[in-house]
Amino acid sequence: MHYPRIILKKGKDQSILRKHPWVFSGAIDLADEEMTDGDLVAVHDCKHALLGVGHFQHATIAVRMLSYNEQLIDTNFFKQKIGRAFELRLSLGLVSSKNTIFRLCHGEGDDLPGLIIDSYAGVAVVQCHSIGMYRQLKEIKEALIAVLAKKLKAIYFKSTESIHDIEGVKEGYIHGKCEVPHLAKENGISYQIDWISGQKTGFFIDQRENRTLLARYSSNKKVLNAFCYSGGFSLQALSNGASLVHSLDSSQKAIDLTENNLKLNTFSGEHLSVVADAMEYIKELPEDFDIIVLDPPAFAKHREKRHKAVQGYKRLNAHAIRQIKPGGLIFTFSCSQVVDKALFTHTIIAAAIEAGREVKILEQLHQPADHPINAFHPEGEYLKGLVIQVI
Ligand code: SAH
Repeated sequence: MHYPRIILKKGKDQSILRKHPWVFSGAIDLADEEMTDGDLVAVHDCKHALLGVGHFQHATIAVRMLSYNEQLIDTNFFKQKIGRAFELRLSLGLVSSKNTIFRLCHGEGDDLPGLIIDSYAGVAVVQCHSIGMYRQLKEIKEALIAVLAKKLKAIYFKSTESIHDIEGVKEGYIHGKCEVPHLAKENGISYQIDWISGQKTGFFIDQRENRTLLARYSSNKKVLNAFCYSGGFSLQALSNGASLVHSLDSSQKAIDLTENNLKLNTFSGEHLSVVADAMEYIKELPEDFDIIVLDPPAFAKHREKRHKAVQGYKRLNAHAIRQIKPGGLIFTFSCSQVVDKALFTHTIIAAAIEAGREVKILEQLHQPADHPINAFHPEGEYLKGLVIQVI
């Protein structure tokens, strides 16, 4: 193995020794040579002892660690890591004919910082959140072909904000081909997935377990699914006998996705689509809902926006708490990484105070097992939710 060296400043090796996978630019003392974005580098402490290998980038997070040994980061390396990630999903029972939608690789949580792979009935959709991962797309592709073997129909590369400025980046199939939309299943319910024009990789896989919980509480209930996107919560509620579901989104495109997905399945409950701004709509609800789901997009992507985001969550939840019928449930979520579990809970409590109603916390929700959090990288926790009862 011969990767150019990066030497850290004295004392700056502590977080790597605790296996936190990020090296911040301020921790670097010197480098062997001029580095290019995406280079594989060997990270050393101030006494020149090797700490591990990672992807370099001219950014605040300067190195994302891939290994804490002297290791070649080649196809075999990716085969081993992606293989282990796939084994975990298999052993968790997430890969079956009833469930063909799962996240195969969740970045730091699967020891591959910067790499996301979602799997939709044989199609792997790859997103790189670092230039280093992008430059190793060929190795990643070969590893996926080896690990998934006959189960793999195609690999689609989807660009992200982090790499779309690089010259020559092109979205598209890097192995095989598959028509979109493509039929796939989550817990026995069918969805049409379009990774080309859809949000994220085409589906919000991270809400699977929370949708299952909603289904459990939805029998004979009237449910409002606000911020519905492709309708996951609506379909789960209907599958367990919700009497009425309203799906609401500000985007007509999202409502079209929801309606197409409804057509693929048979339910007896009534369904109505609403294109509206959730904040405005919930202020004056047309129905006495038993359950309201609030799953807005991330209100804060950066720490500086956190205060404003908290105000937004508070306002939205206060409207819902005011409007829901006595005894009703609210499934409320935040996927803003910078708003942590404690802050989110305090925000909901503040909303209850503002709304002047009594609230009980029944459930505390989070991201599912195919979105694991590396215990040494707590920043990997992003999805949080509560089920509250409003008295
Ligand atoms: N709950 C969804 C994922 C939600 S993604 C699922 O399970 O798949 C967030 C959605 O909120 C997007 O579809 C977006 O169009 C919608 N959205 C954003 N701002 C909105 C607003 N002000 N009112 C209603 N919907 C909004």
